[in-house]
Amino acid sequence: MPTFQLESKLKRGETEILVIHCGDYRFQAGFHEFLNDKLNLNQNYDLMVIPGGPLSLTLFEYLPKFSWASWKWLRFFVEKHGIKRLILIQHQDCGFYKTMPAHLHDSAEPRERQEQDLRRAATTMKKDFPGLKVELYYAGWDAPDRVTIDSIPV
Ligand SMILES: [Zn+2]
Repeated sequence: MPTFQLESKLKRGETEILVIHCGDYRFQAGFHEFLNDKLNLNQNYDLMVIPGGPLSLTLFEYLPKFSWASWKWLRFFVEKHGIKRLILIQHQDCGFYKTMPAHLHDSAEPRERQEQDLRRAATTMKKDFPGLKVELYYAGWDAPDRVTIDSIPV
C-alpha cells in the first residue's frame, strides 16, 4: 500500500462553524469555492455531506430514521465542537428531492419546496439550539453553467 504525502497540513485550533450540503458531484467545486472564497471560511469548518443536504433534518414523519441520524450527527458537532454558526445549502435539481412525495410540501415547485425545508430546519434549530446562528443558501447555475448561490432569508 503506497503512502501519499500531501501538501495539506492538519488544521489546528478550533472551529465554530458547521456546513451541511448535498453530495451531488456537480456542485462540490462550487460549494468549496463559495465557502472558502466568498464566505472566507478558510477551510475552517466541520462538514456534513449527505444526499439532499439539510433536507434530512426535516423528515421526522416520512423518514424518521434518516432524520434521527441527521440530528444525532448535527448534535455531535454542535456539542463537541461548540458550533455557533450553521450553514445550510440546498441546490437546484437535487435528485434526492425527486424521491420525496409531493404532499410533504405546500408547493409543487421544487425550489419553493426546498426553501420551505430550509426554513423548517431553521425553525426547529431555534428551539433546540437557541444560541446557534443559522444561514440558509440555495445553489443553482446560470446559462454558461457557472454556479450561483442565493442567500435565503431565515
Ligand atoms: Zn442533491
